[in-house]
Amino acid sequence: MSRVKKLVRQEIQDLSAYPVPNSDGMLKLDAMENPYTWPAIAKETWSEMLKTLPINRYPDPQGEHVKDEMRKVMGISDDYEILLGNGSDEIIQLLAMALAKPGATILAPEPGFVMYKMIATFCGLNYVGVPLTQEFELNETAMLAAIEEHNPELIFLAQPNNPTGNLWAQDSIQKIIEAAQGVVVMDEAYTAFTDADHLALLDKYEHVLIMRTLSKVGLAGLRLGMLVGRSEWLNELDKIRLPYNINILTQASVLFALEHYDMLLVQTEQLRVDRLVLMQELASINGLQVFPSEANFVLVRAPQGMARNWFEELKNKKILIKCLDGGHELLKDCLRITVGTSEQNELLVSALNEISTSGSVH
Ligand code: PMP
Repeated sequence: MSRVKKLVRQEIQDLSAYPVPNSDGMLKLDAMENPYTWPAIAKETWSEMLKTLPINRYPDPQGEHVKDEMRKVMGISDDYEILLGNGSDEIIQLLAMALAKPGATILAPEPGFVMYKMIATFCGLNYVGVPLTQEFELNETAMLAAIEEHNPELIFLAQPNNPTGNLWAQDSIQKIIEAAQGVVVMDEAYTAFTDADHLALLDKYEHVLIMRTLSKVGLAGLRLGMLVGRSEWLNELDKIRLPYNINILTQASVLFALEHYDMLLVQTEQLRVDRLVLMQELASINGLQVFPSEANFVLVRAPQGMARNWFEELKNKKILIKCLDGGHELLKDCLRITVGTSEQNELLVSALNEISTSGSVH
């Protein structure tokens, strides 16, 4: 296999693929999915509609109907263009490819969404991660210094941030935007779970773009992300978007879901209520520190040295969460738990209660 070694770019050989654990038979609280499905009547209407789709034909290349409906549901003004991606992952990749001049840099606060770094690496850009503070706030001084030093083409600011779940000080965000000479992407993947939104920044700054996804509101399996911004930017990105990147089943299903958006809102509202209950219950578990969350997940810190053990114990009980210990120095002993249905949250909490009091250290 020396040809592989010889031909594949070294930085790709050095990468490991985005890890997705096997979750067969598990209660899945690891990936910020919405735990709810649709009412039977909605499922039936939807599946009847799917039957009528001409799958022998290519889909609408621009997804115009989907974009129109997105505008309505998300209150996006006609002044801005929308670009659709096969998940927001694809949009991150489009941005990176478009800006990947030799020596170009992506900058993001860390810990953050791991794909920013992975995509930078495989698209041939430099990546600079700037540590948050111990409380997971933006380190404004460090961010401004890094912007000055590296002059990044692209900055990602996820609000709420994954995996910390919090929102950052608005004035720090503004200062970063004002210092940036490149593009600043506000990644609003978790916008459905917070009142904060950054659409207004589009009016103020021509170098800001807003990224969203339908993955967290119950449509992760369809893969649909979007970028909103000025047409000057989006027209360029559209040139490198592969034709027909949003398949016909996704377009039609998303359209259906957006036309029934109230159904999804009921679910996200419920998750917001259950997040509070879950946070309170987690806070009462022996030795567990709970961080504030504006997203559909909660970051917690286990007693020193116990995160991996608690993660494995939960797995033995068929509950899958995300162990972040070892991923970043600020995430020592940390676990990330997706908010599930109230029954699922109760299962998790009682399992964690058992684990934390059993003292079964392996
Ligand atoms: N941005 C953030 C901050 C995320 O956490 C995620 C997924 N976990 C994404 C983007 C990508 O979402 P998707 O590709 O499913 O749209």
